[in-house]
Amino acid sequence: MGHDSYNPYVTAQKQFDSVADKIGLDQSTRELLRQPSREYHFTIPVKMDDGTTKVFNAYRIQHNDARGPAKGGIRFHPQETVDTIRALSMWMTWKCAVVDIPLGGGKGGVICDPHTLSSGEQERLCRGFVRQMAKNIGPVSDVPAPDVMTNGQHMLWMLDEYEAIHGGHYPGTITGKPVGMGGSLGRTEATGYGVVFCLREALKANNIDIEATKASLQGFGNVAEYAARLYTKLGGKIIAISSWDNNDKKAYTFRKSDGLDIDKMAEIKDSFGTIDKQKAAGLGCEILEGAEWIAQDVDILLPCAMENQITPETFAKISDRVKIICEGANGPTTPDCDELIKAKNIYLVPDFLCNAGGVTCSYFEQVQCNMNYFWSKEEVLERLEFKMTSAFHAVHDLAQEKGLYMRDAAYVIAINRVAEAVKLRGWI
Ligand code: GLU
Repeated sequence: MGHDSYNPYVTAQKQFDSVADKIGLDQSTRELLRQPSREYHFTIPVKMDDGTTKVFNAYRIQHNDARGPAKGGIRFHPQETVDTIRALSMWMTWKCAVVDIPLGGGKGGVICDPHTLSSGEQERLCRGFVRQMAKNIGPVSDVPAPDVMTNGQHMLWMLDEYEAIHGGHYPGTITGKPVGMGGSLGRTEATGYGVVFCLREALKANNIDIEATKASLQGFGNVAEYAARLYTKLGGKIIAISSWDNNDKKAYTFRKSDGLDIDKMAEIKDSFGTIDKQKAAGLGCEILEGAEWIAQDVDILLPCAMENQITPETFAKISDRVKIICEGANGPTTPDCDELIKAKNIYLVPDFLCNAGGVTCSYFEQVQCNMNYFWSKEEVLERLEFKMTSAFHAVHDLAQEKGLYMRDAAYVIAINRVAEAVKLRGWI
């Protein structure tokens, strides 16, 4: 998805190979870790509201489960590709390892456009996914969660189907469930807050006062919204947000140079994160066509949408003022930009560290489901903050100590942990 000429799987493998070289990883471990260990490709026939049957193509890919059950979201997207899911499953392995939670990496996807599906059709699609995968997912093997264009309701339909098939309650099968139905308080906020916990620490490490900063945001889905909420609460100003308009099939950037009111912006978006142009104009936003979010005069860029958004072409528009990029999305930066980021001396918080708050809270959700005892929101967020800041500092310290780029430092920690697990298990 995103820029056609970049294949995320090639990106994920390139990133892996370059760090594997740096740490002198042995050949067998490399071969094992540079590709997924299991892939399921399947069809889902769905009875549509008009009486016809439509067949959807779907994937679930388990990259590695040496440290624990495979873990990762299921995306609904019309341009989904198997290579994107492969890459995302790899990034999930590194994500769980870098925050040191006992889970592996997996990802799923269905090629579909939920904008065009009724609620009943989406429910049948979710149930169909689980009917195809019921033997290969579960609390001790592979645990799905929400991702792009899926939410708690989808997860609950999936869980219900799984429990109907297996004849019992298995709430640890799926995370990101609605609160009160086995979900964890704080899960909605978790990914966006995690991004800002990393950003806050990155600013401190660079001696920048958050209250003096301005940021520009790409996307206004769940991750972006909660990142914006916490960042503005800590005193920063979001001056631009870019959001995808599915009717016009293009992005618009909503700008207000004295700072956008995030509560008000959240009130005028739909469930897919699309901002209503008319209402935004009513709030005094300037509306720019295209992904102009990247060209703003800001200190911080927060790509929180899709992969392949920061390319050499878009990078050329970045202002000299930008000091920090926090990758809230998975794979937003193409590998040929890493050298450009280094050359411009921009501090990068890489995706699988920056957006690990979601899966960390998913892990807390599993722990709570296993105990059948649920924590307060404060307790969840406090634990999340601790996990995210510890992981951030481990990566930052290693980067400083060894003179590494932040993405490489995060990879060194993650790959070493997974390599150690496969060795201890005797796989290699
Ligand atoms: N989809 C989210 C991610 O990419 C969360 C995954 C999870 O909670 O398992 O990290």
